[in-house]
Amino acid sequence: MTEPATVDQFSPLVRRIAAPNGSAMTGPGTNTFLIGRDRVAVLDPGPDYESHYQAILAAGAGRIHWVVVTHTHKDHSPLAARLAAETGAELIGCMLRPSDEFQDTSFQVARDLEHGECLRTPEFTLEAIFCPGHVGNHFCFYLHQDRLLFSGDHIMDGSTVVILPPSGDMKDYLDSLSRLETYPAVGIAPGHGNLIPEPGKVIDTLRRHRLMREQKVLSALRKLGAGTILDYLPVVYDDVDPKLHFYARFSLWAHLLKLERDGLARRTSRDVEFDHEGWELIAA
Ligand SMILES: [Zn+2]
Repeated sequence: MTEPATVDQFSPLVRRIAAPNGSAMTGPGTNTFLIGRDRVAVLDPGPDYESHYQAILAAGAGRIHWVVVTHTHKDHSPLAARLAAETGAELIGCMLRPSDEFQDTSFQVARDLEHGECLRTPEFTLEAIFCPGHVGNHFCFYLHQDRLLFSGDHIMDGSTVVILPPSGDMKDYLDSLSRLETYPAVGIAPGHGNLIPEPGKVIDTLRRHRLMREQKVLSALRKLGAGTILDYLPVVYDDVDPKLHFYARFSLWAHLLKLERDGLARRTSRDVEFDHEGWELIAA
């Protein structure tokens, strides 16, 4: 018998139900948020687990009017279509579908979401913030009343998110962090993990962490000379559990693509497998 889902009061207007899909990549599981009491928006309904679906319906108590999705990865959006069909809720999210291998293809919206668009109810205003980086169709959301940022997979509690080229992009990721800094948030409600206080501090730490990693990529290129992602991986991510290196390959690729655009590295050979492509440093 599965454990009954817990509904946590996250902030005055927000409740959280964590999906039972915990793993190395999803932490304690995907956070599904219910925003509002009278008319409820469900943010990131999560993976298609029956117990999770029933927990959302019970907590929504017949008041679910919108299903909002930060991005279309399989741990975030698969329950959206089913929930909308059952409740008549409007689906809100980006129409763009990136080509990475972790996509939920069941998510379809009739209309594209735009940066700055607001969902307004008598109780709350939820503002869409375009935040590409992790993937190209990622949105974060700002809840004005509770000054809370819903960060999806842009910012996680306790780990660094993977950047998934070609739609995911390291420079976009850093630019999106700067965009998030302009909102007067007092907390971050991440797609995985617990409430993160002091958003400014965590954003600053994440930016420095990415730039530190970029320096490690440059020093690996310098030290090892021409090579592939698979050659550089154990050196650049020597501080990361090898179990996570499968995913770190994508972020390393994103770093190299950024260095290519910055005129600091170049590809020496192409391959259908991105991690077999050759790279080298461009001498200053
Ligand atoms: Zn994701």
